Amino acid sequence: MTELPARTLDADGLASDLRRHYSHTLGRDKYCTTPHYAYQALALTVRDRLMDRWKNTNYAYIEQDSRRAYYLSLEYLMGRALGNAMLNLGIQDAATQALGELGLVMEELADCERDAGLGNGGLGRLAACFLDSCATLQLPVIGYGLRYEYGMFRQEIADGHQVEEPDHWLRNGHVWELERPEYTQRIQFGGHTESWTDEFGKLHVRWLNTHDVLAVPYDVPIPGYRNGTVNTLRLWKSAATDEFDLGEFNAGSYTESVRAKNDAEHITMVLYPNDASESGKELRLKQQYFLASASLQDVLRHWIKFHGSDFSQFAEKNCFQLNDTHPTIAVAELMRLLMDVNGMEWEDAWGITSRTMAYTNHTLLPEALEKWPVRLFRRLLPRLLDIIFEINARFLKQVAQRWPGDTERLARMSIIEENHEQMVRMAYLAIVGSYSVNGVAALHSQLLTEGLFRDFYELWPDKFNNKTNGVTQRRWLAACNPGLSRLITESIGGDWVSDLAQLRRLLPLADDALFRERWRTVKFDNKVRLAALVQDDCGVSFDPEMMFDVQVKRIHEYKRQLLNVLHVIHLYDRIKRGDMGDWTPRAVLIGGKAAPGYAMAKRIIKLINNVADVINSDPDTFGLLRLAFLPDYRVSAMEVICPGTDLSEQISTAGKEASGTGNMKFMMNGAITIGTLDGANIEIREEAGEENFFLFGLTAAEVEALRGNYDPNAIIAADADLMRVMALIEAGQFNQLEPGIFDSIVHAIRNPHDPWLVAADFRSYVDAQRRAAAAYRDQDSWTRMSIINSATSGKFSTDRTISEYAADIWKLQPLAAYDVK
Ligand SMILES: *Cc1c(COP(=O)(O)O)cnc(C)c1O
Repeated sequence: MTELPARTLDADGLASDLRRHYSHTLGRDKYCTTPHYAYQALALTVRDRLMDRWKNTNYAYIEQDSRRAYYLSLEYLMGRALGNAMLNLGIQDAATQALGELGLVMEELADCERDAGLGNGGLGRLAACFLDSCATLQLPVIGYGLRYEYGMFRQEIADGHQVEEPDHWLRNGHVWELERPEYTQRIQFGGHTESWTDEFGKLHVRWLNTHDVLAVPYDVPIPGYRNGTVNTLRLWKSAATDEFDLGEFNAGSYTESVRAKNDAEHITMVLYPNDASESGKELRLKQQYFLASASLQDVLRHWIKFHGSDFSQFAEKNCFQLNDTHPTIAVAELMRLLMDVNGMEWEDAWGITSRTMAYTNHTLLPEALEKWPVRLFRRLLPRLLDIIFEINARFLKQVAQRWPGDTERLARMSIIEENHEQMVRMAYLAIVGSYSVNGVAALHSQLLTEGLFRDFYELWPDKFNNKTNGVTQRRWLAACNPGLSRLITESIGGDWVSDLAQLRRLLPLADDALFRERWRTVKFDNKVRLAALVQDDCGVSFDPEMMFDVQVKRIHEYKRQLLNVLHVIHLYDRIKRGDMGDWTPRAVLIGGKAAPGYAMAKRIIKLINNVADVINSDPDTFGLLRLAFLPDYRVSAMEVICPGTDLSEQISTAGKEASGTGNMKFMMNGAITIGTLDGANIEIREEAGEENFFLFGLTAAEVEALRGNYDPNAIIAADADLMRVMALIEAGQFNQLEPGIFDSIVHAIRNPHDPWLVAADFRSYVDAQRRAAAAYRDQDSWTRMSIINSATSGKFSTDRTISEYAADIWKLQPLAAYDVK
């Protein structure tokens, strides 16, 4: 079938398509008043423009037979698509004009879109930013993930407690996806393996009596920035096979057969809501294998379609980036597909696998390191377990050759942990199977080679490298902060949107009083917008003249929201004691979700809410201090939060936050960081200059040195401020009607084994907060710091990060899409 000419990008063309979609595609009439259908009509109108470019991108990739990279990730925290698509197509103004002619308001329609929350936090958002940069850099990269029916839970706060509500984000339809049933794959589970010898004496393995599930792909377009490229995110949905019911049905067990269908469809039902910890649940392993197998079969299908059964060039043309250990079973699955399905010998298959897999580590926390019981593997994926044992046997032979007689090292490095229960160590499988292993910030990559992966670093030093994370400035500055965007573009031109290093040209303007005034005005307007969100969602009024002090991220002990609360209680204590000399009025905002099974994190949320109630209802604090907990922190909320923030809280225990990316969004939008020497904070401080960063706390080395002789009770006893803060909590000032509920928090702080060293960093944190408060009172100097932070944030664009992945790991060249005619 020949193709239609492309849709035009002007306001008239947009308006006429919008009306056509509204009345014909969606069948709505003039009496329909909900903005939802107008949103859908607009989204379809924008999608038409993406379709033209999407095909031309694919044609270029196929016809140039380009090398490709595949990003395998269990999470993609995409947020909303409409604003990003309009920005990248360059049709924001035309679309706004078209809506105006039809009597519609852009913001109202945009707010109808649900966030695609298919991720927990930083790791999932990183995957989303990466895809945006890959498309902008015109790199042939395909994202593979799962189409969860329910994404990250919606967080409500009831009586100060977190309540989880299911996120049925697809309920009102999802116009950004395209179902591709023609590329459905079949995934096997269970059964057993059998070996047999063919007529030439070659040994084969069959995986038999499996329970199969179908994987149906849904494609989501990923537009590049004004370059004609639209890449693909392919998300798999699980479905029952057609024959699911036959056996059971014929035996008269109709309901049993429907249950089998249910089981199949359960695989992609829900995202596991754990951030930085593993649940060890069978369904989670099924999800991981489902993603790996469907994606690899899809890549091999494509390969065979265009290259036949000759795999000699496969490793030259393909590579897979594993986003953490979650998709690591892909190492064994590629071996299986190459050997069992495509008849290859072990050595050839391993040559391909170990030259195509690359692994990104995201954490040093031991509780996040995935291990699966061998028993579970044997039941669920028997053929994969055989292959993992063989990979391990050959690997350990190599180790033994390099370090003869070192049996302790063999046990340490084995992919199989031999404890009371045998476990598969997924991180080790990833390292052994990959040609590249990277951390996500300089400190993190260094700590990996010195600690967690030291043995492997000694064996293969060249495998290890660093790729400091970033964020895309398209979403995190250009789209979410139109005021600042306009000011920047008026001052230095618009090239920064695809070349963030250009922001350095703002540096001289930090000395320009008029520019500072304009910068301050934009920040003030953004604070008004954030204050409205806080008023609507928390019922707390933030005065935009106050310093907006913000910590939003997953709630976790290592991120130390608790330290933040202790400081707020300290400020409250100062007010109550009349110690208000040199006071800076402050509005503190904390937001984030706790994993549903993480009791301590949930208790910290309760403490924040209770402290907020006491402070906000005490007339003594009026005009001096406000505290609010923002429910349901998510991408679309962050798009309002980071532009309106003055002070960005990045206060993790040093050595625990692998990189952080929230810190980068705040910096880009002109917030100043108060932070520890952890993750990318170190690089942020290097770029901004130490005089434009509020540093506090122990270093990672000092944290390690303190273990074993940490005495929090002595620290508390020696610090009058901390002593009073603890006394307030212990006296029940924040839980007068709920006795004992914060005991666990007090014990955690006072415990000599507190891994997060909250008490140890309190004094240094309070001092840094004093410096920040003083700096804020000199608005001119604060604005200078704000401008400098934004101007030096160029390094933290994912365009820089992805250029490094493309050059060092993927060996990918940009390839332009064919022109749209
Ligand atoms: C950026 C972002 C994160 C990551 O924040 P960190 O402070 O780096 O932990 C998590 N969730 C959302 C919604 C984000 O936008």
